[in-house]
Amino acid sequence: MYLEQEEIKAHLSAKPFRIVSEAADELGVEAYVIGGYVRDIFLNRPSKDIDIVCVGSGIELAKAVARKLGRHTHLSVFRNFGTAQVKSGELELEFVGARKESYNRDSRKPVVEDGTLEDDQNRRDFTINALALCLNKKRYGELVDPFGGLEDMETLTIRTPLDPDITFSDDPLRMMRAIRFASQLGFFIDPDTFDAIIRNKERISIISKERIVEELHKIVLSPKPSIGFELLDKSELLPLIFLELSALKGVETKEGIGHKDNFAHTLMVLDRLSRHTDHLWLRWSALFHDIAKPATKRWDKRLGWTFHNHNFIGERMIPGIFRRMKLPMNDKMKYVQKMVTLHMRPIALADEEVTDSAIRRLLFDAGDDIEDLMLLCEADITSKNPEKVRRFLRNFQLVRKKLAEIEEKDRVRNFQPPVTGEEIMDTFGLPPSQPVGVLKEAIKNAILDGVIPNEYEAARQFMMKKAEKMGLKPI
Ligand code: ATP
Repeated sequence: MYLEQEEIKAHLSAKPFRIVSEAADELGVEAYVIGGYVRDIFLNRPSKDIDIVCVGSGIELAKAVARKLGRHTHLSVFRNFGTAQVKSGELELEFVGARKESYNRDSRKPVVEDGTLEDDQNRRDFTINALALCLNKKRYGELVDPFGGLEDMETLTIRTPLDPDITFSDDPLRMMRAIRFASQLGFFIDPDTFDAIIRNKERISIISKERIVEELHKIVLSPKPSIGFELLDKSELLPLIFLELSALKGVETKEGIGHKDNFAHTLMVLDRLSRHTDHLWLRWSALFHDIAKPATKRWDKRLGWTFHNHNFIGERMIPGIFRRMKLPMNDKMKYVQKMVTLHMRPIALADEEVTDSAIRRLLFDAGDDIEDLMLLCEADITSKNPEKVRRFLRNFQLVRKKLAEIEEKDRVRNFQPPVTGEEIMDTFGLPPSQPVGVLKEAIKNAILDGVIPNEYEAARQFMMKKAEKMGLKPI
């Protein structure tokens, strides 16, 4: 973790930093690059957003920098916030004057006044986010680390610079941020900091749903998302922000038979899936795939524990949960619903004989999302019995092979009926009515069941025969 002074200087050798340095010296103000960008230099993570703090007017410094960078530079000033942004090519520099913040209880919006660099570092959320590198020529690249942030990076520790109870009570979003950083970076939350999250958990109620979801997305996208969700559970925040996920916890036993802990299982599926995909909504689908298990759980003397139709009920629960959590109620939600409804289909197929007709129906229902569904299903096989796992995975390969063969042959993935409703109405002189729907459905089923090929002529002949049976005559 320890970087030589020369290495830090190499990171700061990019033109914008040199220009900030010049401009700050000319204005006679101190300037520092601070926060996430500095943290990410030490963690060797790529980072685009650069925060510059200036002991003086951030806006004046930004203006001077924009002038020096010349053409193709874009300056935006946000006078109300005392901040300014300079965009130059790929880089985005945010300028702010060093500030001191004080909070009142009902809001996470602080009262702000001008301050020193130290005041500014005091208002930062974690020691690793409070590091500053000086940009003035005389002290170029000097690290200002008042809270031992560097050491915390060595020991992979998330810790607040000041009393954690005050830090979290002032701005409870920081509780989510602590857990998000632990999950994203693979860090550990310092025990005193963590205990303060538990004590302050109820304060999360003053944070908007949108900000919470933003952090949840980052947890979902982290390399091993279970770290974040387990911390949300242990900190007792989970039931306050995502009750249904928290309700998956626990094992009930009857007559000596227990079912699996669906929370642990869900997180295992999410981790396993995350090794293969960064698709945000596919990862969310893993979180939701068994969401209706508590609602559908029954004990049956003969069958043991059952969760009948938990996939369909899960699909129906999703809009309510999305609305409440302020997740998007659009095609992303529809995609998650589709994954949840279908999540058992490939497994059921792999368990039985793999018929062409079942494969065609799966292709028809999943459409272009078939590959995503297969990934989710494979991740869902978490049995501890190695023989069972081997058998499933073997059959799964067979399902994949058949899927490819049938798609090649029958092209049902993006099925468009070869005979349209329009043509049915024209042929039999029908208005839009039930018999048109019945004929359309019959043609679709005949194709999916392999009774006729997915071709126009065959479909037309099939339609004529079926219509005759229904007493319809062509006009
Ligand atoms: P990421 O870019 O991954 O979201 P970050 O820490 O770099 O992480 P920002 O949210 O842009 O991202 O924050 C920049 C810096 O501002 C942080 O490093 C931290 O010093 C400070 N900061 C951000 N949010 C807060 C907060 N809620 N409380 C205190 N300091 C904060």
